[in-house]
Amino acid sequence: MQRYRHWINGHAIEPANGQWLDVFDPATGAVTAQVADGDAADIDAAVAAAQAAFPAWSSLPNSERARWLEKLADALEARMDAFAEAETRDSGKPIALARVIEIPRAVSNLRFFAHAATQFSSESHHGEAGLNYTLRLPLGVVGCISPWNLPLYLFTWKIAPALAAGNTVVAKPSEVTPHSATLLAKLLIKIGFPPGVLNIVHGRGPGAGEAIVRHPDIKAISFTGSSAVGRRIAGIVAPMLKKFSLELGGKNATLVFADSDWHQNLDVLTRSAFQNSGQICLCGSRLLVERSIYDEFRSAFVERVQALRIGEPMDGTTQIGPLVSQAQYDKVLAAITRAKDEGGRVLCGGNAIDRPGWFVQPTVIEGLGPECATNREEIFGPVVTLQAFDDDAEALALANASDYGLSASVFTRDLVRAHRLAAGLRVGMVWINTWLMRDLRTPFGGNGQSGHGREGGMEAMRFFTEPRNVGIQL
Ligand code: NAD
Repeated sequence: MQRYRHWINGHAIEPANGQWLDVFDPATGAVTAQVADGDAADIDAAVAAAQAAFPAWSSLPNSERARWLEKLADALEARMDAFAEAETRDSGKPIALARVIEIPRAVSNLRFFAHAATQFSSESHHGEAGLNYTLRLPLGVVGCISPWNLPLYLFTWKIAPALAAGNTVVAKPSEVTPHSATLLAKLLIKIGFPPGVLNIVHGRGPGAGEAIVRHPDIKAISFTGSSAVGRRIAGIVAPMLKKFSLELGGKNATLVFADSDWHQNLDVLTRSAFQNSGQICLCGSRLLVERSIYDEFRSAFVERVQALRIGEPMDGTTQIGPLVSQAQYDKVLAAITRAKDEGGRVLCGGNAIDRPGWFVQPTVIEGLGPECATNREEIFGPVVTLQAFDDDAEALALANASDYGLSASVFTRDLVRAHRLAAGLRVGMVWINTWLMRDLRTPFGGNGQSGHGREGGMEAMRFFTEPRNVGIQL
């Protein structure tokens, strides 16, 4: 059986404690590989390697660090299919998603931050008190921790800006989906990447993850994952006065107004709810629909959802694959049971699918208000609720009835309403007449239980650097 080892100081390394975890194929439930279950000893080794590599890496000209990221992007692009298959095997996501969106996006992340390395600049101030200029210095060794839902996409979204800004990195992919990061380590050998600059340590959150968070020589933590773990990490790093960025869960609203082109947008509305089986932090899991079109919309939407092609994730035509793990499957089914207990009416789906693996039917529920747990807690599965509203004020109140604040989508042809709502929605990102439209330069992140800080573009370069002002008496 294949074993995924750590990648420390340019070498594949066995876990110091000799412990391994099983990795599963979500489409069958079968064990496909094992992954190192690292702990603090492995993190110590990775930090030592990263510290030793820091002086040379941080003093390279920016354009040379950019060239390394470009080389890695090229090597990844040349092996797109192998990476897409690894991602699908580990996570159960439809291969079309991995091939067309996620691995290409990982390539773009590396290229985008290669360019950022050459374009990043800092400020100068004069005319008041001498001349001041700001240096933007890398932090040193930084820790990047990523989740299983978009494995390589989010892994590269963190390591690329960290490396571009001149830091060395200890990164931990999710223990549930470790394959693509392990393949990336192989590309590092292939391109002759300097050892110790990027170290990849596998393992569970409380072991390897928390050892990264607690390590005194790791200067910043960039974390994407659940709000519960984000809160725990904040509790550890705040007293250490360590820099941190948290990208957490969401309970996003999609607002559909009667004047919108909702018929033409049914595809995007369905995708926004069910892409990757709803296992995307940005999925719109609360559909708010203007009452005058509610009945017509409900029939058309449910029909569209029932037509989604559920099947083998390796089949290029599959739209809905299994959930990622037994734990996620149990959690989603429990959330559906709770929705029924709260009085929700299941319009379609509502059950597991009788086949091997962790498949759950795409599920649409109505009849639950904003106070219900179903509409308040992130489910992170193929489950959406429908709620009706009468006017803009009620739509906004329903959308904002959440402790989360990640994203929202508004479908309307009324420009004034769109801008007014965009300003009133308490979220980090608003899309008008679309969903998940991304420009990598824009600030990415959320408010409240959805996180702390922003990623993307120069926000990420600023996060991974420390400003130092220099004042000169003229
Ligand atoms: P998770 O919080 O369980 O785990 C995320 C990562 O953190 C994993 O690598 C895990 O091993 C590690 N981890 C777990 N406990 C830890 C600890 N105590 N200390 C340090 N590391 C620890 O999340 P998940 O189940 O892998 O991912 C799903 C969650 O991620 C959802 O809530 C989803 O909304 C969120 N997410 C957010 C974004 C965003 O950009 N806002 C993007 C993707 C996913």
